[in-house]
Amino acid sequence: LLGTNGSLGVTIFEEITTLANRHKAINLGQGFPDEDGPAELSRIAQNAIATGHNQYAPGKGILELRLAIAEHQERFYGLAPDPESEVIVTTGATEAIAAAILALTGPGDDVLTFEPFYDSYGAMIGLSGASHTTAALLAPDFMPDLLTLENSFSKNTKMVIVNNPHNPTGAVFPREVLTEVVRLARKYDAVILTDEVYEHLTFGPRHIPVATLPGAAERTLTISSAGKTFSFTGWKIGWLSGPAELVAAARTVKQFLTYSSGTPFQTAIAAGLRMEESFFTDAAATLKRKRDILSEGLRAAGLDVLTSQGTYFVNADTSTLGITDATALARRLPELVGVAAIPVPVFCHSEGASRTRSLLRFAFCKKESVLEQAAERIATLK
Ligand code: PMP
Ligand code: GLN
Repeated sequence: LLGTNGSLGVTIFEEITTLANRHKAINLGQGFPDEDGPAELSRIAQNAIATGHNQYAPGKGILELRLAIAEHQERFYGLAPDPESEVIVTTGATEAIAAAILALTGPGDDVLTFEPFYDSYGAMIGLSGASHTTAALLAPDFMPDLLTLENSFSKNTKMVIVNNPHNPTGAVFPREVLTEVVRLARKYDAVILTDEVYEHLTFGPRHIPVATLPGAAERTLTISSAGKTFSFTGWKIGWLSGPAELVAAARTVKQFLTYSSGTPFQTAIAAGLRMEESFFTDAAATLKRKRDILSEGLRAAGLDVLTSQGTYFVNADTSTLGITDATALARRLPELVGVAAIPVPVFCHSEGASRTRSLLRFAFCKKESVLEQAAERIATLK
């Protein structure tokens, strides 16, 4: 159960949040907002509980939410998945990732991810028995080298996982990067699993779903989550969409992971996905302000801050303070200055870990005053 690279212990999020709580530190580690999402959505969930929507939902999710997911994709991206056969609701994006990887890959297959990669990809690839190849995203803008990307593909490449906007780096991939991924996935006949949980959280160029690119839809499974868009990470409502046969395979596995997902929350998220456009643009604008406050604060504290184009994370290089081991620093930071952050090397295999050795990831989905205070505390490291 330790996985192929021995990485399945306590997750870094659990570890750092425990330290943050122990030292009463400001937790800019685990990515969760310190303010809840829209009160009207909470009321809908409470009302659903009060009016008897408390038993198992259908395995693939309540129809109202599947319809809302399809409508949302049509409204924002011009995609039109069939809510009956091309959409399932999952217990967060985490379950969608697990179900897709376990359903579609196994021993003898290779799965390609960019590196750094979100922790659950590595864990689930390990559990599936497939091997895991990585292609580096290089600072400062964390883009892949398109001239050499093909070297990471082989005849065994069964799946390529894209995460855009990208956690932990905050990169948002432009069309040319996504187009090259699609070209190579077609050439090597790989499925594209694209994790777009931060689809609405971008600060410059608008998010481009992989499934909208020519030749992509027929081999692309798209994942998103209500946790990020609506600031309800604890509700654990996510979804998966794509071609019927790929969705059916993931659904087969989902039946035995959780069977179905939280009934009263599904009604509320259906209403969320139907909110007017200004909700989505305002959320991104508010977050952009928070990004700027934390980025400026960390710069003033002497760190080299790498611009975040999306998600609610920003990376900062601690080597400017003479600190080269961000992992050791992250374990001491809550006690030292009362702030918690996540070391970027934990999202990497060994080579990537040495490349990102001095990087810390800070979450900025917090009140502005909290971000200012955190930056002031980091400044005392100087
Ligand atoms: N994918 C990425 C890239 C994430 O950052 C996260 C969590 N923040 C997830 C998946 C998991 O989402 P959920 O909480 O909906 O399971
Ligand atoms: N996805 C969140 C992050 O990157 C954490 C989710 C978790 O704790 N597993 O911070």
